[in-house]
Amino acid sequence: CGIVGYIGNREAFPVLINGLRRLEYRGYDSAGIAFLDDGLKVVKKSGKVAVLEAACNNIKIASRIGIAHTRWATHGSPSDANAHPHISPNGKLAIVHNGIIENYASLKTALLSKGHVFTSETDTEVLIHLIEEVQERTGLDLAESVRLALHNVTGAYAIVIIDEDNPGRLIAARKGSPLVIGVGKNEYFVASDATPLIEYTKNIVYLNDNEIACVAYDGISIFNLDNIPQVPFVQELEMEI
Ligand code: GLU
Repeated sequence: CGIVGYIGNREAFPVLINGLRRLEYRGYDSAGIAFLDDGLKVVKKSGKVAVLEAACNNIKIASRIGIAHTRWATHGSPSDANAHPHISPNGKLAIVHNGIIENYASLKTALLSKGHVFTSETDTEVLIHLIEEVQERTGLDLAESVRLALHNVTGAYAIVIIDEDNPGRLIAARKGSPLVIGVGKNEYFVASDATPLIEYTKNIVYLNDNEIACVAYDGISIFNLDNIPQVPFVQELEMEI
């Protein structure tokens, strides 16, 4: 339902929590966060953003990269286990997702037959398992693995992924669900709409359908599902606050 991502020179945690609060108007049943501090860490809870924040109280979070989500359950009841982010079987990738993977059941059946074990009832967890499967089978880098995996997916999605083995970038992609990238000074924001970004930057790149973005500390690159590079088009946001 709501997505926020951050990479840059600030501590990610306050940016992500503020962003989730800004997205509360959309309605949701659970909230969660993933960041990289000595490896991938995930905290997720059913209930309000305040519940998530309380659960993070005793955790030291210095990470300058992270992703966060407020969930509106479509596949699986509202619960801690079904809340996003979801992680890949090897524990290295975390994903947040808005939308619905329509063919998740057949993808899940195929993955189950290969021995995958799922910890939630969501369509989203199937997607991150599929991405890891492609990555392990092909040996390709994460962005390329995401691109190939998305060729097997029908439905609508806005996704953002972080990877413990590539701590310097976020991978974002969309089809049918909005996703915007806020361009700051040595920092980038990703969100499902511009409201979480307005307090930080007015410079926005609207990701188009079938595009994948690699968002690193020092720049963004965008290519489409056919692997054709796209020139990021930075627009000035005009929004009444
Ligand atoms: N289909 C996903 C789920 O049920 C994402 C829902 C959303 O957009 O929040 O977990």
